[in-house]
Amino acid sequence: MQSTDPRQSILSIVKRLEDDGYNLASTGNVSCRDQGGVLITPTGGHSGNLTPERIVRIDADGKVQGEGAPSSEWSMHTAILKAFPEANAVIHTHADSCVVLSSLGKSIPAFHYMLAGFGGNSIRCSRYATFGTADLGDAAVEAMRDRRACLLANHGMVVAGQSLEAALSLVIKLETLARQYLMACQAGEPMIIPDDEMERVLDRYGKYGRTSLPH
Ligand SMILES: [Zn+2]
Repeated sequence: MQSTDPRQSILSIVKRLEDDGYNLASTGNVSCRDQGGVLITPTGGHSGNLTPERIVRIDADGKVQGEGAPSSEWSMHTAILKAFPEANAVIHTHADSCVVLSSLGKSIPAFHYMLAGFGGNSIRCSRYATFGTADLGDAAVEAMRDRRACLLANHGMVVAGQSLEAALSLVIKLETLARQYLMACQAGEPMIIPDDEMERVLDRYGKYGRTSLPH
């Protein structure tokens, strides 16, 4: 359950990402909408040094409020929140299996029906763009069209959820699918679910499919 204080919620998500091995050496970052602005982890922030006060706020005009500098990927977070009005939270990590696939420039095809939870029949790998640039935000938004996540070429992954909890769940599911896809590729050539069957799966996902973000 998400705490009512969004700063506290961000801290608890950061700790869970670290405890479960999704965010090694504080390379990832977490953000959520906050009354017209965005709250985001500061650069160099990790569970050992973060306090609610150290979470940075970026207001609607892009002005930064807080002591520290926002995460170097703040422009990717704000670009995603601007492009996808249904999303309220964004998490970016360098989780291992996603990094491996992104270094191959590989999208994840429909090797498993649970890809439908991301809104379609694939999870795309974005084009390469330099970290910390607005161009990376553009590349992520392009790759996330009709989706809730993408791999970032030679970099990692990013997800957008309706809440911080939903975004964390997407991180866990995406890294799991990436790991399983890699294992399948090592064992042979995975069978890919045909598009018409994925259409049926997406229909079965109902409100969790295509149009709305998972709760
Ligand atoms: Zn990164």
